[in-house]
Amino acid sequence: MTRDLPDVHSAEPIPARAMDEVNRILQSGDLFRYNSANSPVTMLEQDFAAMMGSRYALAVSSCSAAIFLALKALDLPPQARVLIPAFTFAAVPSAVVHAECVPVLCECGRNYRIDLEDFRAKLPDVSAVVISHMRGHTSDMDAILAACAKMDIPVIEDAAHSLGTTWNGRNIGTLGAMGCFSFQSYKLLNAGEGGILISDDPELIARAIIMSGAYEHNWKHHDIDPDVMERVQNKLPLYNMRLNTLSAVLIRAQLDEIPRRVRDGARNHDHLVEKLRTNPLFDLPAPYPAEARAPDSVQFNLPTLSDAQLDDFLSAAEMHGLRIQVFGRSRDNARAFWNWRFLDGFIELPKTRKMLMRACDLRLPASLSIADCDQIAGALLASMNTAVPPQHA
Ligand SMILES: *Cc1c(COP(=O)(O)O)cnc(C)c1O
Repeated sequence: MTRDLPDVHSAEPIPARAMDEVNRILQSGDLFRYNSANSPVTMLEQDFAAMMGSRYALAVSSCSAAIFLALKALDLPPQARVLIPAFTFAAVPSAVVHAECVPVLCECGRNYRIDLEDFRAKLPDVSAVVISHMRGHTSDMDAILAACAKMDIPVIEDAAHSLGTTWNGRNIGTLGAMGCFSFQSYKLLNAGEGGILISDDPELIARAIIMSGAYEHNWKHHDIDPDVMERVQNKLPLYNMRLNTLSAVLIRAQLDEIPRRVRDGARNHDHLVEKLRTNPLFDLPAPYPAEARAPDSVQFNLPTLSDAQLDDFLSAAEMHGLRIQVFGRSRDNARAFWNWRFLDGFIELPKTRKMLMRACDLRLPASLSIADCDQIAGALLASMNTAVPPQHA
């Protein structure tokens, strides 16, 4: 039996170049973003916007906060209906509820992406759309954006887990009216917590800046037309979702790491997927041709396994040291829509449920080597042979 597999749950160290700046901030006590001109938070916003090719960026306390502020910035009527994928993290329906809107859940298919037929059927009844690129899997953004443009429905991209992904060569997060990213520990850039909102629309970002907690004239720290800001001055509530300067330092120090993490993450993922394809019991949905992914985990479906066989596969993998979650089977999983019991009413989504009950999820950090991935592939294939001996497959 393969033992001591690589640890797929550990984080990468924060680059040492962050240390001097962290020490300087600890000496000065300058933790609040609006204390000084050109605070690390402001510099992060400038660097991130330039990197993404968007006009504006607003750093906030989490991606959930970014999604909430994006919805509030749209100034929707109370109880507006917002279409979200049924396969997403609980933070998304939560942000919709927090913004006093009503989530409408859209089916997702076995490829983890939005089911376009259900999307088009539900679109006429909603005022806005949030697209979650779950685990970095990109839904058909051409079809989604075209359908939404036709009906003048704004699109918010939840790109929490999609930093570095492109669609037709364009950065994910820049396709909709606003894009939201996370710096929580399990994302490409790890600051423990944090998020950022990007947009090209000065009116939307102005509203988000105020509501994020730029009270009085703190918006002067943002590179935005003062006339736009004066129009919203004192007209919006403050939710205080700002990012602190230490977090911004940790994030900025990792920006240069993105190309390597994206490259190595994709390499590891594609290598592992190729190995798993040697056993047809692993269903590995292909990305759309427009997508260039930046994965830090791998997903596969085991649609033909019985419940007992799936249990056997999971325990065999655990014996090898691999903790695999099946989204729909792990207790109280935050990505299983039936666990979002804070929502009013319950609507069954059979397609999404079917996928969640057989979709396996395994972290695959960019720091792994090809040899590590070979070991993981070997353990997964051996676990499958234990659960479903080849002569019975
Ligand atoms: C992590 C994640 C979130 C939440 O991000 P936070 O920064 O923790 O609020 C939202 N959506 C998706 C798809 C995520 O992966």
